[in-house]
Amino acid sequence: MKGFAMLKIGEVGWIEKERPTCGPMDAICRPLAIAICTSDVHTVWEGAVGDRHNMILGHEGCAEVVEVGSMVKDFKPGDKVLVPAITPDWNSLEAQAGYSMHSGGMLAGWKFSNFKDGLDSEFFHVNDADGNLAHMPEDMSLEDACMLSDMVPTGFHGVELADIQFGDTVLVIGIGPVGLMSVAGARLRGASRILAVGTRPTCVEAAKFYGADEFISYKNGTIEDQVLAMTDGKGVDRVVVAGGGVQTFESAVKSLKPGGKIGNVNYLGSGDYITIPRVEWGVGMGHKQLQGGLMPGGRLRMEKLGALVSSGKLDVSKLSTHVFHGWEHIPEALQLMKDKPADLIKPVVIL
Ligand code: NDP
Ligand code: ZN
Repeated sequence: MKGFAMLKIGEVGWIEKERPTCGPMDAICRPLAIAICTSDVHTVWEGAVGDRHNMILGHEGCAEVVEVGSMVKDFKPGDKVLVPAITPDWNSLEAQAGYSMHSGGMLAGWKFSNFKDGLDSEFFHVNDADGNLAHMPEDMSLEDACMLSDMVPTGFHGVELADIQFGDTVLVIGIGPVGLMSVAGARLRGASRILAVGTRPTCVEAAKFYGADEFISYKNGTIEDQVLAMTDGKGVDRVVVAGGGVQTFESAVKSLKPGGKIGNVNYLGSGDYITIPRVEWGVGMGHKQLQGGLMPGGRLRMEKLGALVSSGKLDVSKLSTHVFHGWEHIPEALQLMKDKPADLIKPVVIL
């Protein structure tokens, strides 16, 4: 079978591989559509997860099941499915401890295009099919289905990690597709005021649609100076970090009220340390919490988030700005995500 792969750090191309085999609890799927992720850019060009050789890319998409193992109960060939980017081993100790995304080790629930071949291939393998696949709602478009793999669950996880409460003033740093879903999640969680950091006009427009009230450009001075000016020097209750680099945490801590919480879902592709400013962290006693997490995967979450979309309570259609048709467009879509033109939010390839 053919697949579009990371050949080594900084190099991608088409390769031929054996079709994966199906274990008793697994499924083999054929992608119907795939989406490209900023994480692919970190992985390929920054080598952020380390070097990978001839590893097929892709962890976002929807698919048709072509084969299931003998123990799979709820899926059969021909079923259309949502595929989460994170596919944990549900019987692992980490999953029992509540951190399924780290089943088998740090970040090891993230298997596609990290520890095994991903979705940009004629066929791909899904471990624990009953635990990780979800039936695709019938009326859902392929583009919307792709947004459920990673963008919705990750953006919403930022909201969960920041523990957003009714009436909170929230700062969302980064309004690419992930941050946009954090804005949408913050509104669903009852934030009273949402400040958003980002400059690309298409993203700013989408952020307004999803519920952002005011905007900050990281190019116009520090984020914290602007936040403090907009909040009478008080700062915000919660911060979701979905963009920027290692330096962003200093701004996040400085923008936060005592007792505030930061939820990070940004993938820090480079730099060795993040800096926590001593004074603004209450000289160690400010009750400012910082949590960073990989999105939770699995079937239940996919079904619930899918229901939010199919019920009309969450409109993800604004995210798919560039839709291609045909395998041959995968390299172009990846390059687009690397270049981030002003009108791009997310590229999707219908196969
Ligand atoms: P984008 O690159 O599309 O968006 C990044 C956003 O951050 C943009 O709004 C950008 O602004 C803004 N930004 C850039 N530089 C700065 C800065 N110095 N300070 C503040 N804001 C800045 O990324 P995505 O939305 O696709 O992804 C966001 C992150 O989430 C990525 O790192 C991705 O790898 C990660 N991720 C994490 C996952 C998880 O499970 N935790 C899963 C999936 C993705 P501008 O408008 O100017 O471009
Ligand atoms: Zn992704």
